[in-house]
Amino acid sequence: MILVLVETDPQGATLTSREALTFARGLASRSGGAPVHAVVVGPLEPEVQEGLVAHLAEQGVAELHHAQDDRLSSYAAAAWAAAVVDAVSALSAGLVVASGTPRGSEILAHVAVRTDAVMAANVVTVDEVEPLTVSRQVMGGAVLEEMRLDGALGVLSIAGHACDPEPADQPTEVTVSAYTPSLADADLRARVVRTEPVEADDTAALSEARVVVGAGRGAGGPDGFGDLLELTDLLGGSLGVSRVVTNLGWRPHHEQVGQTGTRISPDLYIPCGISGAVQHWAGCQSAKTILAINTDADAPMVTKADYAVIGDLHEIVPAINAELRKRLA
Ligand SMILES: Cc1cc2nc3c(=O)[nH]c(=O)nc-3n(C[C@H](O)[C@H](O)[C@H](O)COP(=O)(O)OP(=O)(O)OC[C@H]3O[C@@H](n4cnc5c(N)ncnc54)[C@H](O)[C@@H]3O)c2cc1C
Repeated sequence: MILVLVETDPQGATLTSREALTFARGLASRSGGAPVHAVVVGPLEPEVQEGLVAHLAEQGVAELHHAQDDRLSSYAAAAWAAAVVDAVSALSAGLVVASGTPRGSEILAHVAVRTDAVMAANVVTVDEVEPLTVSRQVMGGAVLEEMRLDGALGVLSIAGHACDPEPADQPTEVTVSAYTPSLADADLRARVVRTEPVEADDTAALSEARVVVGAGRGAGGPDGFGDLLELTDLLGGSLGVSRVVTNLGWRPHHEQVGQTGTRISPDLYIPCGISGAVQHWAGCQSAKTILAINTDADAPMVTKADYAVIGDLHEIVPAINAELRKRLA
């Protein structure tokens, strides 16, 4: 049996959790049709629960286990892990899966330690089911590592966009069962006690965008982004930038793509004036199609791209925008 830890947003299960559910279902079908259950921790507003159950039904999940305790109303990694471990024991799960978000990875690391299980983080594919062998991203995604998980319980965090969230052939009737996990005071020692609004931050929009327009040093300065922002708008995408751009203060850090920024995997990435350093490539290599715009035909981004236009982005991007405006009129 595979237990998937699900994170929620106002619509139900987050996109990356739905990806993890699809990933788990694929693995289950290769393991003789093992059932997939979900676990969610903490309070759920009625409309979130409704959306969540609909998402789980679409993903073919048999049962949702809901850990409830007033002390779970704010995030505490150890307490959430204790709640997941209780579900693992009660259900004799053989695998625990979550999306490789900061929260998913943190909780699963606690789960692995508490259950003495082997954990593989940032998994992208399952290579073999018996013995369970997976490929996972290491070194910022620049290298894929093959890893074998031995033992009664395996713990996997799934790299963002390792698969698309596909609905199951047959939707399920999801049974929801609440349970009260056993929590120790020590589990709540490190917990969120206060949250503050941050300045507008579109990181989530960037990581989930289907089209990303990239901008690097070639933009030329803080005033060099107008045409790139217009292209982003015309394509209904998000702007992603290189570290040079954020270091120079031309654009905010949350727009940075790369090893130390956001990992993106859009259908289309259009890096403009970005050389394609390995640290940037680590964050964009999962893009399905790359169209590079660069003055240098030998730039790594150009040589790795599916398509490239060689020239000044300040001439090419306005020309694309004009054509798009004409076609969209
Ligand atoms: C530990 C570490 C972590 C890092 N993490 C990241 C990260 O997460 N993300 C990241 O991006 N970088 C990261 N970097 C930095 C990375 O190594 C590069 O320095 C950076 O990506 C380069 O940014 P760039 O491509 O915008 O600039 P450059 O390398 O200077 O390239 C500019 C490109 O623009 C082209 N160009 C210039 N003018 C024009 C024009 N008018 N029209 C079209 N093309 C033009 C040039 O031909 C060139 O290819 C990291 C570095 C380190 C050491």
